[in-house]
Order: sequence, then C-alpha cells, then structure tokens
Amino acid sequence: MKIVKFGGTSVGSPERMANVAEIITSDQEEKIVVLSAVSGTTNKLVSICDSLYAQNIAEGKEKVKSLYDSYLPFVETLLKKEEYIQKGKIVIENQFAAIHNCVDTSFTVREERIILAQGELISTQLFQLYLEENGITSTLIPALDFMRTNRDEEPDLAQIEKLLSTILHEKSGEKIFITQGYICKNINGEIDNLKRGGSDYTASLIGAAIDATEVQIWTDIDGMHNNDPRIVDRTEPISELTFDEAAELAYFGAKILHPYTIRPVRDKGIMVRLKNTMDPKADGTAISNKTIDKEIKAIAAKDNITAVKVKSGRMLLAYGFLSRLFGVFDKHKTSIDMVTTSEVAVSLTIDDDSKLDLIKTDLESFGFVEVDTQQTIICIVGQFVAEKKGIIKKVFDALEDISIRMVSYGGSKNNISILINMEDKEKALKVLNKELFGL
Ligand code: ADP
Ligand code: ASP
Ligand code: MG
Repeated sequence: MKIVKFGGTSVGSPERMANVAEIITSDQEEKIVVLSAVSGTTNKLVSICDSLYAQNIAEGKEKVKSLYDSYLPFVETLLKKEEYIQKGKIVIENQFAAIHNCVDTSFTVREERIILAQGELISTQLFQLYLEENGITSTLIPALDFMRTNRDEEPDLAQIEKLLSTILHEKSGEKIFITQGYICKNINGEIDNLKRGGSDYTASLIGAAIDATEVQIWTDIDGMHNNDPRIVDRTEPISELTFDEAAELAYFGAKILHPYTIRPVRDKGIMVRLKNTMDPKADGTAISNKTIDKEIKAIAAKDNITAVKVKSGRMLLAYGFLSRLFGVFDKHKTSIDMVTTSEVAVSLTIDDDSKLDLIKTDLESFGFVEVDTQQTIICIVGQFVAEKKGIIKKVFDALEDISIRMVSYGGSKNNISILINMEDKEKALKVLNKELFGL
C-alpha cells in the first residue's frame, strides 16, 4: 500500500480536486490518500482564532462568515447532482457549526485547536463526495481515530500503528482510503494538530505505521529545488536526495516538506517522492538511502533564529561546563540548532524563543550573556567528505560582502550552516545560487 498526500493548492479548487481524483485512480495500487485543507483555509482559521483571542468577537464572526460564504460556490461547482450538492452543504453546515460553538464560548487553546481542525475535516469529506458522485469507491478513515500524540506532544507511532492496523484490518479489501493530514488527538483525548504544514508529517507517519511501499507528497512544484524558488529566480529541481540531505533541507527551511517528514520513514528505508500535481509526468524528487556523489546539492534558509552567546572568563571549556550549559536548554525544552565554541565563549542558536527570558536568567549564572534576534541560518547541503577541498572557500568567496555571525561545518558530512542577519538573506541566497550553481 502507498501513501499519497495532496497539499492545499492540490485541493485548492474544484478543478484541482478533480485532478487529484484522476491521479489517484491512474493505477490500481491500494492507497491511503492524505489531504490538507483547501489552500488559504488554515490561514483564515488562524486569523479567526487571533480575533477571538483578542476578544474581537464581531470581527471573528465576520471572518467565519466570509470563509463559510467561500465554500458554497466551491460545493456547487465541485458537485453536480442536487442530491450531492445538498450532502456537500450539510458537510459545510456541520463543520461551521463546530466553529460557531467555539466562537460562542470562552476561548482557550482547546477551542483554537478545534477550529484549526475544520479545514482538513471539510476538504476530505467534500473530496469523498466528489469520488462517490463520480462512481469511485473510497473509504474515509478519520485521522482523529488513529493519529495520536504522546505526553511530550510528539506523535506516538506505536499507538498510531496499533489503531490504524485495526481499522485497516476491519476494512480489508478496500482500495482507496481517504484521511485528514495535520490533525490528531493528544494524550488528553482532545483534538490537536502536528503544527503548520503537518500534513506531510501525517503522510510519513502513516507510511511508517503500515510499512508503506512509498510515500508520495504531491504539491505545486516539481520536487525539491536547489534553492528557495520564492526568493531566487533560477532554481532547478533535484532528482535524487538521501534521507539525511532531505531532512537537513526540510529542517532548515525548505517549505516543500514539514521539518520532521523524513524522521518516521528514514529507519525503515521507505522512499519519499515529491511530485507536482500540476505536472504529474515530471520526475519530481526521489528521497531514499541512495547516495549520489554530488558535492553541493541545495541551499535552504531558516528565519527568525535567535543567537545566544555566553562569555565566561572562568572554566569555559572545563569538564562538565558545556553539559551544565546545555542543561539550561533542556530544562526549558528548547532545542539548539547550531553551536560554536572558543576558549572564552560559547555561541548557539535556537528557533523557539518563547522561553528566552527564563533561559537568559539561568545562563547569567555562567557568565555574560548576549542575545541577537532576527538571524537566519543558511544551510548548504550536499556530500562534503573531508577529502574534498575548496568547498568552504567557494562558500566564503560567494558571501564576501555579507557579515557572518557563526559557521558550523563538520557536524555531519551533509551540511554547512552559516548564521547571518535576516536582512541579508535574500542577497545571500542569490549570490550563493550564482557562485555555487552558476545560475
Ligand atoms: P503544500 O500546500 O502542497 O503543502 P507548500 O506551500 O507547503 O505546499 O510547499 C510547496 C512550496 O514550497 C512551493 O510552492 C515553494 O514555493 C516552496 N519551497 C520553498 N523552498 C523550496 C525548495 N527548496 N524546493 C521546492 N519548493 C520550495
Ligand atoms: N492545513 C495545514 C496548514 O496549512 C496543514 C498542511 O497543509 O500541511 O498548515
Ligand atoms: Mg506544506
């Protein structure tokens, strides 16, 4: 069985949904189809929640109404027979009733998560109605019945495996299953989600849970490009990446993949294929264990990074010092991305600064603490074995006009990370594209 995930733009209009139906019926293989919300919907749901948190109830209600209004023509174009249009309208009524219930009560994170879940609940039901109306048999398996997170708010793969295998066993013989990306239930049995862009993660978790033959991520571009196509004009798709290379690119900002997509499938060696819904014949990117000996493959950038420097005259590199220093980040459940050390100072970066004040206070017992916000990590990915010479020179030559705050090289053979000011990002990506790829 394979997993095929379609992102927001791929289900973004009735026409696009019809394309998805064509793609999933173009072969006979059993499949689980994971869908995102219609593009723009989750952003609008977030904006509704922002209004409700700010107690702008009237504004929140107006935004709900405008989203609701946008779904009526969607239903009337997607579905043709009156009977199906009515069924589609009932889906919209039901899911918007769930939103209204949250608007009319005191607003907490619990209500927020219920509202955020509605996009995927709507898209999957409408898509299934479309299939049904067109004579295509499919089975909806609600993600809320099997996607689970644990005490640490991480996906609970063992639970997912257990629940999903029972469901699939009960429905054995079916060929096409449909489910929601992004949404799950947490340890308290409440509706929750896998964070923005999380439908990719849903797909790879399901892939790992059922030992899928392959996980396909269908989106609006022909695979992973060698640089950020939103910023740089001339970028090219990469035909093959290793799991490690793809994981680095996803983690360090290549938006095409949720940062953790590769984790569940890497150990099992399940191939991930990135495909373009608008151009299904294009090769896309195949992500597997296969190594292609190409020095520099791609560049990505991750914004809103905070750099923390701890300067201490005493015992900085003494035994146990770094362990105690990292213990502060552990205590505040904040992960560190880059680290550099010298005899007198340690610099590191974090992307979640929600506990920064507490971290800073704790670190002050070690020495003088300096914080720089608004930083960007530029990540250059490829095969950088130690014997290869001149790669760092090429990178530094390209960045000669940009001030560099930190460099990390040698942590893995796949990654060179460079910290710069966020305002220099665009320029850095463009000059690197020219110098490293000649584009
Ligand atoms: P979906 O809604 O299908 O999940 P996303 O918007 O999350 O799609 O991801 C696809 C987008 O990722 C592309 O349209 C592209 O603009 C952006 N992107 C950023 N970096 C890259 C990259 N290195 N390669 C390909 N796409 C990228
Ligand atoms: N709909 C969710 C989002 O926009 C999840 C996803 O599309 O992957 O973030
Ligand atoms: Mg996405």
